[in-house]
Amino acid sequence: MSSLFEPTPPNILPELHQRLLAFHGKPAPRDVWDPLTQLIYSLLSARTKTEVSLQIIRDLRNRFDGWQGDWTRLRDASIAEIEEVIRPITHYEKKSHQLKETLQQISDRIGVLRLEPLGRYRTEKIRAWIEQLPGVGVKTSAAVVNFTTLRRRALCIDSHHQRIAQRLGLSSPKADARQVEADLMALAPEDWTPEMLDEDHSLFKLQGQTLCTKNEVRCGRCPLLDLCPTGKERATPKRGPW
Ligand code: SF4
Repeated sequence: MSSLFEPTPPNILPELHQRLLAFHGKPAPRDVWDPLTQLIYSLLSARTKTEVSLQIIRDLRNRFDGWQGDWTRLRDASIAEIEEVIRPITHYEKKSHQLKETLQQISDRIGVLRLEPLGRYRTEKIRAWIEQLPGVGVKTSAAVVNFTTLRRRALCIDSHHQRIAQRLGLSSPKADARQVEADLMALAPEDWTPEMLDEDHSLFKLQGQTLCTKNEVRCGRCPLLDLCPTGKERATPKRGPW
């Protein structure tokens, strides 16, 4: 994918990664979960603050005995019981139905309520399978294969990652998360491990939460300024009509 204003330099992603690493420091190590727990978390966490979503996962584990990744009791719980626990999250009524339906479909289609059996397939096939489940999109499928014990190569494109890739001109302003992931994966060195891609995701997220937020950009402090068409354009004084 070429930049909006000039050709994308070679090795741009490793360069961005190193600069973000130097600026933000190494992201906190991930608590690597089993893939089903990650799927439940991803389904519930949309439009809900991270701290609230993490607490809900803890509450679900305590209430439905899910600490070992066995979510049978959650699947078999009533909607009212599920809602009682997940009430603090956004759209909890819709999500309680979605969650129960998702767990039932996994049981029916795999024969066991676990996602590890998908590990025998190649990554694209696993993701396509997961994306057929209710409410699951490309961001969730990437998280399930990359952040978990499956540890496959994928880039989870959340709103921060998408916005910054577009401001950097690495993806078209109209690109959706699937396209942004494809654009960035085309720039990722082949020897980047799943863990490295996970770290890249975390660094972009940190950048999006601090210097390059949705409503405010601090380009003057940004370590990416000289590589960023949006930042450079903002720094260029506008010429008057005279
Ligand atoms: S230079 Fe500005 S727009 Fe570009 S990534 Fe940095 S903060 Fe965002």
